[in-house]
Amino acid sequence: MKLLEGKRAAIFGVANDRSIAWAISEAFHAEGAELAFTYAGEILEKRVRPLAEGIGSKIILPCDVTKDEEVEKVFATLKQKWGGLDILVHAIAFANKEDLSNPYAQTSRAGFHLAMDVSAYSLVALAQRAAPLMEERNGSIVTLTYMGSEKVIPNYNVMGVAKAALEASVRYLAHDLGPKGIRVNAISAGPLRTLAAAGISDFKSMLHHVAERAPLKRNIGAEEVGKTALYLCSDWGSAVTGEVVHVDAGYNIMGM
Ligand code: NAP
Repeated sequence: MKLLEGKRAAIFGVANDRSIAWAISEAFHAEGAELAFTYAGEILEKRVRPLAEGIGSKIILPCDVTKDEEVEKVFATLKQKWGGLDILVHAIAFANKEDLSNPYAQTSRAGFHLAMDVSAYSLVALAQRAAPLMEERNGSIVTLTYMGSEKVIPNYNVMGVAKAALEASVRYLAHDLGPKGIRVNAISAGPLRTLAAAGISDFKSMLHHVAERAPLKRNIGAEEVGKTALYLCSDWGSAVTGEVVHVDAGYNIMGM
């Protein structure tokens, strides 16, 4: 029997086939899960729909996570079509481009709010609606973070602060939802070339830096994040909650 046979997963954050959320979707699909997808706007729908339909997905919905009414509609549809939900993948982040290149000290109030709303609060907004659908099903929620939450990574700036809030939210959500059997974890991925990464100034030098210094002496592949998501969202991770699991070739353990 496949690891996720009979499981239903909602995936938020596929922009294209380089998205981390897509690598996770491929891993889940290969292990028998049924998937639903959301996309953030019409332009993305053109890229997400063919990918989703290609792996047999029948639920493909718009969802800008800053809009409560769109979030509500997604979960109402999942309830109506599926009755319940086993897995939620949150792979969403956004900050203004200037906030990912100017000094952090220059972050505007509006830029700070935007990054926190899209990249951190959205997990809470999704989890609070997913939880009622996950009761009695050993639900699992997984989000994506980056070590710019723990250490200063030049140019990551306000996104590092948002990721710190996201990781703290993982712990508080794990505490709140644990009594219902729902687990909440984060994967802290090493740098990967995606659309979101393209917004970070000098991203290329991050890749070189990691490959030179990480214990494994290389960068990671998105499929390696997919495999870790599979562990966290399947029975293999049944006692793991509130964790931030690094998938970064070991880079985060280095002091010098
Ligand atoms: P990606 O393919 O660009 O995915 C980011 C997704 O967030 C996109 O689908 C994007 O849609 C969506 N999004 C942004 N604003 C949204 C909103 N208001 N409502 C709904 N969706 C919205 O890039 P990715 O690298 O795979 O990013 C996925 C997650 O992994 C992010 O949380 C990122 O911080 C994290 N991560 C990435 C790396 C890396 O090096 N790539 C490393 C560690 C962690 P739009 O394109 O429409 O904005």
